[in-house]
Order: sequence, then structure tokens, then C-alpha cells
Amino acid sequence: MFQEPRSWRLKYSANTDDGRISYYNCKVNRNCPLKIYLLFENRNQDVHLYKTEAVHNHALKQVGLFDSVKQQIDELLTLGVNKPSGIIRAFREKNMPEPARRQLSSYLSKTRAKQGNSHVSIFSIS
Ligand SMILES: [Zn+2]
Repeated sequence: MFQEPRSWRLKYSANTDDGRISYYNCKVNRNCPLKIYLLFENRNQDVHLYKTEAVHNHALKQVGLFDSVKQQIDELLTLGVNKPSGIIRAFREKNMPEPARRQLSSYLSKTRAKQGNSHVSIFSIS
């Protein structure tokens, strides 16, 4: 029996004249440029492994914010800084790479939706 490659996630399989081809994405980050595909040959049951000419890159084309950035935003929110302009200013003051505005506002609205209306900043609790 053939075993599924461990660090790869099956994207899709397609049947061709030569056999079935299975395309895999890197498990760590599906935007990683390194991909593999397997050809299960029809005529002799051979399995061939093909790789893209790339190396792992898990920071590239990251969709959304890095966890460290999210953490920083969460901290600022706790401190009552909840406007995108205020958050970006805080990042600049700390000399940290600032999040893209679009990503920031989508993260903020997601966070707000999670917290609902019951959210109060620590300064309003007395
Ligand atoms: Zn990778």
C-alpha cells in the first residue's frame, strides 16, 4: 500500500492517460511555493514523485496577519487603543512593522464580533 506523504496536504487528484496524478500543497502553509505531485502510473503501478523548483517559504504570500502582530493588536485593544489609526501609530512608535490597514480592519471587526457588546476596556471597570 502506498502511504500519503506526511508533510503534504492533498489538494486534488486528476486522472490522465498516464495514470492518476495527485497534487499536494505544503502542510505548513498552502501558499508555500514548494509543491509536489505524484503520478501513479497506469501501465506498471509505479509511483513517481515530482517537485516544484522551489524551497519552502512559509512567510510568503501570507494571507492575514502574523500571530505576533495579532498579539500586539490584542494588547493594544486591552489598553483601550481600538482605532486603526491609533493602532498603526502604536506600531510605528514601537518601531514594529505596521499591519496593512485592510488586514487590520478585518481583524478588528472579527475581534469585535467575537467579543460582542459585552466588551469593556479595562479602564472602564472600576
Ligand atoms: Zn513549505
